[in-house]
Amino acid sequence: MTAIKRLCVYCGSSRGAEESYRHAAVRLGKLLADAGIELIYGGGRVGLMGILADAALAGNGRVTGIIPTHLYEREVAHPNARLVVVASMHERKQRMFDLADGFVTLPGGLGTLDETIEIVTWRQLGLHDKPVVVVDVAGYWAPLAALVEHTIAHGFAPAAARGYFRTVTHVDDVLPTFAALPEPKLKADSSLA
Ligand code: AMP
Repeated sequence: MTAIKRLCVYCGSSRGAEESYRHAAVRLGKLLADAGIELIYGGGRVGLMGILADAALAGNGRVTGIIPTHLYEREVAHPNARLVVVASMHERKQRMFDLADGFVTLPGGLGTLDETIEIVTWRQLGLHDKPVVVVDVAGYWAPLAALVEHTIAHGFAPAAARGYFRTVTHVDDVLPTFAALPEPKLKADSSLA
């Protein structure tokens, strides 16, 4: 059973086309706050990121945003989150990784995809075994699952790749899924990542 104190959530800096994405972000923010789990995220106030952080803050949750200097204005740094301002995207991703006990992906765009794939490939490389949960809101991430199957079918990824992340269809399943997963055994060596 994995004890989660801090969860890193990757999600869109846009709101996306469906209301269900917004509902999922609001619900996850509330669930984290209620569970006393600190939200680690990209630090912006825009899109699903902002909706998620607002919901966690509204529930008196602890929210830490990691934001690079050059995105401080573009992603409108959240005024009420505890902000850590870093020099680069690489440093942002590293700090988010270091702080988090696990990772959640909500719907998002290319940045969200990049962050999710990176954390999964770090897992493939044995750099960590922190759990990763993808929330397939309204089937949004079905193409990601299909792409992973494609890489396996064509001999570019091991069958074990299916186990590098879990997929749930509703945010209410996120925390029970983490709770049911085994405790990470590896001491993540962030200097390798
Ligand atoms: P998006 O899903 O494209 O809206 O981006 C979500 C978050 O990922 C935002 O905070 C972006 O700043 C961040 N992001 C965008 N591009 C990248 C990238 N190449 N590497 C890492 N993060 C990114």
